[in-house]
Amino acid sequence: MEEYNLVYLLEGKVYINLTNSCTNNCVFCIRDIKDDVVGANLFLNTENVKAEDVIEQLEAMHDKLSSEIVFCGYGEPMLKLDVIKQVAKYIKEKYPNTILRVNTNGHANLVYKRNVLPELKGLIDKFSVSLNGETEEVYNRISQPNLSYSYEAVKDFIREAVKEGFDTTATIVTNYKGYDVDMPKCIEITKELGAKFRERPWIENGY
Ligand code: SF4
Repeated sequence: MEEYNLVYLLEGKVYINLTNSCTNNCVFCIRDIKDDVVGANLFLNTENVKAEDVIEQLEAMHDKLSSEIVFCGYGEPMLKLDVIKQVAKYIKEKYPNTILRVNTNGHANLVYKRNVLPELKGLIDKFSVSLNGETEEVYNRISQPNLSYSYEAVKDFIREAVKEGFDTTATIVTNYKGYDVDMPKCIEITKELGAKFRERPWIENGY
């Protein structure tokens, strides 16, 4: 594979970029705004990403591997579930102390029409899930999802991830122009779902 942007470094942490596809089209998505995250060009020439290619790029920077590796790029990583599983299995076997996190829009169970979380036990440690709003109306305005019932699916995903024992955080992007959410309500919803909460400040160079 020609391009070397399946794996990139951001503030000393290794990130894995598996796809440019997503079931959301968020108003603040940097896919539509610029073509790099802090200098890394994350546009892929192909959606046919293979685990071997990711592993090859990981090993090429093995001296830089961080204690936590994150699946997060210009798209929704869980759309490449099989690749996540293969790469995570490799990392866990070869670098067993590495913590693996997936930053996700939380649509996976809706997309695959099954609960995929049990399949990721022992492979993924943490999920960071974009809650994006306090109601379906706010969520739809901000995330512009392709699929019906996405907001409920996101909340179900968070609830299920907590139940399955994953370290789960619901996130809200802040500081984006025209983006107005009821933060106390989002915190309350997150608490009800049993997850941790985190604000992700939107920054020009990526988030
Ligand atoms: S979920 Fe992430 S990748 Fe998908 S549109 Fe929103 S910001 Fe972009």
